[in-house]
Amino acid sequence: MSLIVQKYGGSSVGSVDRIQAVAQRVYKTVKAGNSLVVVVSAMGKTTDGLVKLANEISPNPNRREMDMLLSTGEQVTIALLSMALQEIGQPAISMTGAQVGIVTEAQHTRARILRIETDRMERHLQEGKVIVVAGFQGISHGTELEITTLGRGGSDTSAVALAAALRADFCEIYTDVPGILTTDPRLVPEAQLMDEITCDEMLELASLGAKVLHPRAVEIARNYGVPLVVRSSWTDAPGTWVTSTKQPERPLVDLELARPVDAIEFDTNQAKVALLRVPDKPGVASRLFGEISQQNVDVDLIIQSIHDGNSNDIAFTVMTSILKKAEAVADAIAPVLRSNPTKLDEAEVLVEEDIAKVSIVGAGMIGRPGVAAQMFATLAAAGVNIQMISTSEVKVSCVVDAKDCDRAVASLSQAFEINTSPLHSASSLPAAASAVRGVALDLNQARMAIRHIPDKPGMAAQLFGLLAQHNISVDTIIQSQRCHIIDGLPRRDIAFTVARIDSEQAKTMLTQAAIQHGWGEVILDSAIAKVSIVGSGMEGQPGIAAKMFAALAHHKINIQMIATSEIKITCVVEQEQGVKALQVIHEAFGLAGSEKFVVPA
Ligand code: ADP
Ligand code: ASP
Ligand code: MG
Repeated sequence: MSLIVQKYGGSSVGSVDRIQAVAQRVYKTVKAGNSLVVVVSAMGKTTDGLVKLANEISPNPNRREMDMLLSTGEQVTIALLSMALQEIGQPAISMTGAQVGIVTEAQHTRARILRIETDRMERHLQEGKVIVVAGFQGISHGTELEITTLGRGGSDTSAVALAAALRADFCEIYTDVPGILTTDPRLVPEAQLMDEITCDEMLELASLGAKVLHPRAVEIARNYGVPLVVRSSWTDAPGTWVTSTKQPERPLVDLELARPVDAIEFDTNQAKVALLRVPDKPGVASRLFGEISQQNVDVDLIIQSIHDGNSNDIAFTVMTSILKKAEAVADAIAPVLRSNPTKLDEAEVLVEEDIAKVSIVGAGMIGRPGVAAQMFATLAAAGVNIQMISTSEVKVSCVVDAKDCDRAVASLSQAFEINTSPLHSASSLPAAASAVRGVALDLNQARMAIRHIPDKPGMAAQLFGLLAQHNISVDTIIQSQRCHIIDGLPRRDIAFTVARIDSEQAKTMLTQAAIQHGWGEVILDSAIAKVSIVGSGMEGQPGIAAKMFAALAHHKINIQMIATSEIKITCVVEQEQGVKALQVIHEAFGLAGSEKFVVPA
């Protein structure tokens, strides 16, 4: 006999028929000898409807009242599903987040779960009842008891947190697709189902708006080792297991406030090659990395920041042992990229050997803008200048001077209270069969850049500290290669993406800061799309980046920015080309299957 937590999303409980079908599945699972806690979402598009009503009254509704409003959607479903269960002879009891004892912090509309009081649930389970819990909501025990919600899509997080708290045998997420696919089947019907995916891969995909799983649910599954599967509520197909390696036992308090950083990594075995002033047009990155991969040179970080005039800089890092080879390729390709081979101020090759890469890693940094800022502030306080920055959802990597590496690692370990010894990044892993697992598109981001920030310790800390103070999350932070000397000071551009809803506020605030600190222009472009490939097998496999860039070049899609981590490559492209970019990349990696998925209406 197992204790199982099942979660049914909006479309799975979208009508009375669907609720009755869910009741049948629950009944069968109980009859097979299991105990069950069932988490449900609001019916169909109820939550969207409630948001719309609020917006008809106010463009900026009070967040407490939003929680009061949105939490009602799930309450309808719990009552109806309990009734449907009782109707077929299965004892059941519906419970709100507060009744279950899902205690959250007091942050309305995006509360994190602190703990779950399991006594009452255990009693009802002993009585042989199925417990039907309202997803996405909790209660905060501040000075007053307040209803909170976890943020859109948060029922997944409720389910996995309940599974962790109850030490359930596993957690099943039932939805309208057969599991996790190589990309969103609404955009690419030929997307293929995966049998399994690691939590780390899923975190990178999910935070990009892959939607099928709330990233915070994946974070809890990983931290507490909850076996997690995503399945279709329409069929009995096995679905996709989200796997994780065994983690040390954690207490069940401050469930979602676990330490934001799990590890510090460093690599002193790296060198940097940069191509300065290459033309800002489709095909350039493809040409460069195509040539590099033909020479079998494996690149690690790749960074392309926002264009400057009509040219761009592209920088990458390689292992020191292959630097000469990489440099030779860059030297050979540079003249081809010039408008005229004799124009030596175009496509200039710059090499730097004495660098180190230092990274902070942890799923807890998702949605917590202060973490990257804290890293930059820590490095600044240690007098370490940051040469390059590249971020992904669960990692921030900084390239620094090799002589600063020890100091950087020591100060970061102290700041983030990491007692285990820092990991020396593995230089190359055995090539996996399929390097790229999934492709994701995020259409909800805007790109921002600040020109001419002085190139000295503390600037990134100041900039991202300011954004964090206003609770604005940033990602894909990229610092440009190109240095301008203005007023005798070397200066660089820093570009990043923010959620589009935060972008106007960020712009106003940063424009003020720029005047105050003497930074250059603040640029905002809302019409962008972020497209990314994810896969743990891409490390140590030359040519993956080249293939992605070639697919984009072939379709004349210009790459505005590039950022990478070991398991992900992200390109920023024009918004209108986002879907096309996703489709051609998915195709290029041979991820398309012969079968087409039709998502139920
Ligand atoms: P639920 O209401 O069950 O929580 P969601 O709408 O939140 O369901 O999530 C399921 C949807 O996620 C699918 O219908 C699909 O369009 C979308 N999706 C995006 N990326 C993926 C992916 N890689 N695999 C599967 N589904 C995806
Ligand atoms: N009903 C909420 C939403 O639509 C929570 C969820 O479905 O996960 O965002
Ligand atoms: Mg969902």
